[in-house]
Amino acid sequence: LRDCKEAHMTTSATLFEQACRHIPGGVNSPVRAFKGLHRPPIFIERAQGAYLYDVEGNRYVDYVGSWGPMITGHADPEVLGAVRERLDNGLSFGTPTAIETTMADLICGMIPSIDMVRMVNSGTEATMSAIRLARGFTGRDKIVKFEGNYHGHSDSLLVKAGSGALTHGEPSSPGVPASLAEHTITLSYNDVDAVEACFEEIGSEIACIIVEPVAGNMNCIPPLPGFLETLRRVCTEYGSVLIFDEVMTGFRVAMGGAQAHFGIEPDLTCLGKIVGGGMPVGAFGGKRDIMERISPLGPVYQAGTLSGNPLAMAAGIALLTKLREPGFHDALAQRVDTLCHGLRERADAAGIDMITQGVGGMFGLFFTGQTRVDNFAQATACDADAFRRFFAAMLDEGVYLAPSAYEAGFMSSAHTPEDIQLTLDAAERAFAQLHQP
Ligand code: PMP
Repeated sequence: LRDCKEAHMTTSATLFEQACRHIPGGVNSPVRAFKGLHRPPIFIERAQGAYLYDVEGNRYVDYVGSWGPMITGHADPEVLGAVRERLDNGLSFGTPTAIETTMADLICGMIPSIDMVRMVNSGTEATMSAIRLARGFTGRDKIVKFEGNYHGHSDSLLVKAGSGALTHGEPSSPGVPASLAEHTITLSYNDVDAVEACFEEIGSEIACIIVEPVAGNMNCIPPLPGFLETLRRVCTEYGSVLIFDEVMTGFRVAMGGAQAHFGIEPDLTCLGKIVGGGMPVGAFGGKRDIMERISPLGPVYQAGTLSGNPLAMAAGIALLTKLREPGFHDALAQRVDTLCHGLRERADAAGIDMITQGVGGMFGLFFTGQTRVDNFAQATACDADAFRRFFAAMLDEGVYLAPSAYEAGFMSSAHTPEDIQLTLDAAERAFAQLHQP
């Protein structure tokens, strides 16, 4: 197949076979491969609102939203319009542009803990750079992260990670030097005692804690009351930098992210996904005295040829501006509630052990007899086979859930009550199938 325009004449299975010839695993990011799901991934041709359309013309109600950015639905006319408006001016200049200041002002206005912000091209770059900055600022090497949290694929952070690393059974990657990984201390999520014990022992050597303030890369796990508070307290006490990785939660669980939702102020915040409106964008920012250590003001080096790209900024600004509409996040949370409540009701009726957890516009389904799931060990103890079968049945019903038991689901404002009802009707049939051998 030489021409993508012919794609609609073929199947996802054929396209996947062809992709595998020259792309490792046929994909440019691992979880897309549907590994372990015993079927080829679906190849998408276009998307609109709450729907994905595959190359065979099938429509899916989408709860992945390009892994988070599409919070107002796919192909949002205002986001596309903003990009179109700038397109003819050129794609990239490698010079300062006024639109970067507009973006910085917007972010700092929405997230009060951010005094200064630097734009990058992915969530990975944001967390990697924030870690370097925290180390440069404190003059310390050790970092603390939590098991099953995923902060992108930079070396220091690919230790006991979540998301695709976990889905593919490799939470720690070959290729990360042991001499580097030894500076990464991994604790159990929501374990306040472990955090306190760690800081009592070596607090003065710890540059930073990095945490997903709602974990979304080992399914969806909210922080227990007191967890984020403890992180804030020990960081203040020991002079360590508290980094909230809000790549997923930023602008999603509340306008001001998880820090606004839970009322805890980090020193640095990492952003991605929504901040770029679907373009490759990330950002990190925070307290002025820390951010002033970044090059060219300070000695901590960080740079990017395409950082602050004008089309990407235009898309992000258009999307962020839409989210400021009063009641946007309450309405999103309400949709999540309706979906999760409906799913639990149908699982109960079918005699399936399943619970849901969610915060704001993100949620997760756990096939477990437990009443809640608070950490990595509990998340990985859930019934992965039940998830796989449920996922496959839902896909056949035209509902696209994240193709891994260890990813959060994302709601958009484009999901109508009818879309949610359709999802619940599909789930009823899918749950019934779980009982079949
Ligand atoms: N941090 C978190 C919390 C994430 O969820 C992700 C990606 N899912 C990243 C960082 C990495 O972002 P990217 O894939 O844009 O590099």
